[in-house]
Amino acid sequence: MNRRRGTGSMWRMAVVAALAAACDSATIPALPGPYDFRLAIYGADGRARQRTFHWDRGAVVPVYVDDEPVGAGALSQAFRRAVRAWGAAAVFGEVRLRETTDLGEARAVLRWHDATGVLSTPMTCLGPVTGAASTLGCLNDPRDALRTWPRRDGEPSQVIYRVVIRRTDDRELLDRLVIHEMGHVLGILSHSPNPSDIMWAGPDLPPAPTARDRSTLRSLYQTPVDLPVESASPGE
Ligand SMILES: [Zn+2]
Repeated sequence: MNRRRGTGSMWRMAVVAALAAACDSATIPALPGPYDFRLAIYGADGRARQRTFHWDRGAVVPVYVDDEPVGAGALSQAFRRAVRAWGAAAVFGEVRLRETTDLGEARAVLRWHDATGVLSTPMTCLGPVTGAASTLGCLNDPRDALRTWPRRDGEPSQVIYRVVIRRTDDRELLDRLVIHEMGHVLGILSHSPNPSDIMWAGPDLPPAPTARDRSTLRSLYQTPVDLPVESASPGE
């Protein structure tokens, strides 16, 4: 009895070992599981809390592209390709992006790093930053909600994210950077550990969101939000 059980578990171990070996094989792709999409926020006590933000399911997020000339420059064109790339990735209609020329309705602003910009920057803002680009959101004082960015002209703002891209003439690089940063705008607020994903933090990005990026977006939009947007205060 004991011996038979022993033989059985040895057989199971052999199968497990064979499966593990198969997973390592380049001929059998790993299942594209989601990676962590949450933003680590450090509280006054020094402890990090992982927070989840996303737009309402099915939302269309208006993005103001601060380009030269407005609507016709390289940044606008890269943004339109990013809209299509994430539109194809959001296969369950989780969320979409669209361009707006009305700053009053914009929820994100995309601009070159050396432009003056339409937003002012008086607050503590944080987010995923690389050398080539950054997406920043601003926290309220208790650090439990996102605030709107104030506008330079003092008009009311609904902008949550400011996206800055380092100027480049490399169109492929620009496209990939904008797709990556728009992934942050959609709510993927950390980076993929896998260098082949568009949300990888490294310099060599793939041309489009991967299956893992897609499953991460899907998983994000099935997760409850615990980093809400604070309602705008008067005069901002
Ligand atoms: Zn990033």
